[in-house]
Amino acid sequence: MQDCLFCKIIAGEIPSKKIYEDEYTYAFHDISPQAPVHALVISKTHISSVAQHQELSDAELAACLRTCAKVAELLGITQSGYRIVNNCGEDARQTVHHMHYHVMGGAQLIERMA
Ligand code: 5GP
Ligand code: ZN
Repeated sequence: MQDCLFCKIIAGEIPSKKIYEDEYTYAFHDISPQAPVHALVISKTHISSVAQHQELSDAELAACLRTCAKVAELLGITQSGYRIVNNCGEDARQTVHHMHYHVMGGAQLIERMA
């Protein structure tokens, strides 16, 4: 989608620190990490948030979660644990309107997020 930051990252028009990529997903390091490990997992098909889930196939939706787990493995935090976060819409303070999952770990995270 034109003028979407994460679509431009997928297209390589904006640089990113890639962790993993497959047919349906792309994973890269967050530019402003909120934990020692902070990755972002995005669907290659643009949807603005989980609220538009109908526009993705079941395979695409499932791939996002599998990539989160894959990224955790690649970054060595499977055993220590990690948090997967998806912000959807204004009250969740979503800032980039291309659906994405945060994968965070590498230290004990704060107990609550709200
Ligand atoms: P949201 O607040 O929408 O859930 O998360 C957006 C995330 O994207 C934030 O954690 C922010 O640091 C990250 N982000 C914003 N712009 C860029 C960028 O240009 N490159 C990378 N790697 N991450 C970005
Ligand atoms: Zn996009």
